[in-house]
Amino acid sequence: MAETIPSVIVIGAGLAGCEAALQLAKRGKKVLLYEMRPQKTTGAHTTDSPAEFVCSNSLGSLDVTNASGLLKHEMAYLGSFLIEIAKEVSLPAGNALAIDRVLFSKKVEELLAQNENITFVREEITKIPQDCPVIVASGPLTSDSLADNIKSFTGSEHLHFFDAIAPIVEKDSINFDKAFYASRYDKGEASYINCPMNKEEYEQFYNILTNAPRIELKDFEKDAKFFESCLPIEVLASRGVDTLRFGPMKPVGLVDKRTGVENYAVVQLRQDNKSATMYNLVGFQTNLKWGSQKELLHSIPGLENANILRYGVMHRNTFINSPELLDATLQCRKRKDLFFAGQITGTEGYTESIASGLLAGINMARFLDNEELLSLPKTTMLGALTHYISDSEQRHFQPINSNWGIVEELNVDRKIKKNKKIKNEMLSKRSLEYFENHKP
Ligand SMILES: Cc1cc2nc3c(=O)[nH]c(=O)nc-3n(C[C@H](O)[C@H](O)[C@H](O)COP(=O)(O)OP(=O)(O)OC[C@H]3O[C@@H](n4cnc5c(N)ncnc54)[C@H](O)[C@@H]3O)c2cc1C
Repeated sequence: MAETIPSVIVIGAGLAGCEAALQLAKRGKKVLLYEMRPQKTTGAHTTDSPAEFVCSNSLGSLDVTNASGLLKHEMAYLGSFLIEIAKEVSLPAGNALAIDRVLFSKKVEELLAQNENITFVREEITKIPQDCPVIVASGPLTSDSLADNIKSFTGSEHLHFFDAIAPIVEKDSINFDKAFYASRYDKGEASYINCPMNKEEYEQFYNILTNAPRIELKDFEKDAKFFESCLPIEVLASRGVDTLRFGPMKPVGLVDKRTGVENYAVVQLRQDNKSATMYNLVGFQTNLKWGSQKELLHSIPGLENANILRYGVMHRNTFINSPELLDATLQCRKRKDLFFAGQITGTEGYTESIASGLLAGINMARFLDNEELLSLPKTTMLGALTHYISDSEQRHFQPINSNWGIVEELNVDRKIKKNKKIKNEMLSKRSLEYFENHKP
């Protein structure tokens, strides 16, 4: 490790780390930015450049009435360096912000090099440094030794290595002429939403599922071991036509009071956020391609028109149990000079990673200046994201990307809420008004 004692160490020159370092430097803080590549690589990165886009070259929509688009507008208000660079190197892609990834990394590298407050060190950090403020932004493919150290700091139950997550749908898009609330054997509160299937519907569903293409796993992901209780539905289905009916789609004890019928199979949905706008499909973790997931979900009675807020995914993903560890400012609760940023916090996606790097950088600078930290309201997309990941009442925490389901609901009548276009326009207007009135 370099000898000078810096103001702040940032671990990882990925999307979050570079943004955080630039934000700190802008506020006059000295930064040591550590990157382990090229000495050590991640299995997914292919260059030694900072801020590499590992897969697609798109940051998603720029449309302000789209959840990811709104997030970018908010980031522009907060002065994101990387969003600015992305726009400079953008490629024609309709309403989306697609970039020339080589040029993007080159421009980020130049900006880091020109900044006299930033020292870029090519070295792996194996332990969270104790003697100075730190931002951990080592990403979903954090090196093993650092991951071990994070695990001993957080407790092993608070560091996850793999995502096998189930899709989430918007409650307002569920058809309650078919779906019904009930708990198994009427025990406790009837908080689950149940989508019933008869034999014919189940067989059709099974047929779609077993013929659907899966996403190809990367080499370093193929050895991944899944918990038996967390197997993807397509793996369970491959064990036999009835395996799902005796597993996550078990119908026993789930009676629709309107009909008195116990069905052939049932898909259960569990509440996913406090305001009960989002529901996840219980036991439906999957690696199917997104188009197939959509077809499969829409074949479930009650979900014919379901708005899918998050698709199921499976990939290596190191992330901390943020609800137990972080505040919505991204500050660690048990060590105040430690912040986490990027995908490791459970904010998923390129834009979200940059956004959390932006907030962590701003807040670390404020912390060092003894200023109040920036905690954005849930009416903004970035505020909603950071409150979601730091909500200590959450139980089955899984990474999340920007979506309308996490944003505080509008106080308007149901008719307006049902009109998606108007609703999204109002949500984005409300957020941008906040930024207009609270210039950072
Ligand atoms: C295979 C894969 C594909 C993805 N595809 C997409 C996609 O198409 N679209 C999308 O929106 N999101 C995608 N993501 C999710 C996510 O948006 C990206 O991973 C994003 O790059 C995360 O940003 P980050 O800054 O948190 O981590 P990264 O950009 O990965 O940056 C972390 C950096 O830390 C370095 N590092 C790790 N450990 C250490 C250490 N101990 N010491 C020093 N340096 C270290 C790494 O080398 C890396 O440069 C993908 C993720 C993966 C794993």
